[in-house]
Amino acid sequence: MYTIINNVLVPFQQAAVPINDLSVQRGYGVFDFFRTQNGVALFVDEHLNRLERSAAAMHLKIPYSRDELQEQVDQLMKQHRLPCSGIRITVTGGSSADNYTRGTPHVLIAEQSLLMQDPSQLHPGFRLITYPHVRELPEVKSINYMMGIWLQPKVKAAGAEDVLFVNNDHISELPRSNIFIVSKSGSLFTPSENILHGITRAKIITLAKAILSVELRPVTLTELKEAAEVFVTSTTKRLIPVLSVDANPIGNGRPGEVTRLLYQRFIEMEQKYFEKV
Ligand code: PLP
Repeated sequence: MYTIINNVLVPFQQAAVPINDLSVQRGYGVFDFFRTQNGVALFVDEHLNRLERSAAAMHLKIPYSRDELQEQVDQLMKQHRLPCSGIRITVTGGSSADNYTRGTPHVLIAEQSLLMQDPSQLHPGFRLITYPHVRELPEVKSINYMMGIWLQPKVKAAGAEDVLFVNNDHISELPRSNIFIVSKSGSLFTPSENILHGITRAKIITLAKAILSVELRPVTLTELKEAAEVFVTSTTKRLIPVLSVDANPIGNGRPGEVTRLLYQRFIEMEQKYFEKV
């Protein structure tokens, strides 16, 4: 396998950043991650837009134009020819003489084979626990996943699959996913604040607007507990039903109809994208 570092293709084992890079010293850097299928990168424009927004918000200047980044991604896909992969573009804080001042970012592009859930099967569902936390600069896709990784033993001990961050009785997101709620009256809510604006979230919002009423606004823990259906979204998860939160079942404890319908519509959208490009 190969990696592109600063526009140079190098074997994966030889890929390295200097030890004084702020990503190593201080966890300072941003990234984005998208899926590919047979050489087509899914929603790549949206992901590159978000990468540029994250970098700008962190005062990092990506040393390549959009076209140059796209060419590097294409070069890596052509090199590997993987049928199903994930591509991660990382923009680091750069080498720093005093280990604190930003330098010129290093740009790392890595590709890995990805094993995805069979699209004809909705995932059986996640059990979640809650934990009080707000990510720093939540709209930035930072390389820092400290809290999510630190909480893994707690999630496992509770017999759950993932954790939902809450703040003052409001819910926000999971370490790597966004969350949606279908109320008993049949409306769809998704938190609008303290979140990363997920690309999958945006697609689900578009699809859902054709089916039911959609509200992007602060969502309370009470609304979550009284929901008819709950599901989470992300690039690798697509859409996964939530069966329980803190051991309290959601709805009847099984994936609901709106969740199934939106999953189906999302799979159709994804397939159209792969066929069209
Ligand atoms: N929220 C956070 C904090 C994330 O890191 C991610 C993705 O890893 C998401 C939400 C989901 O975003 P996307 O749908 O673009 O994968």
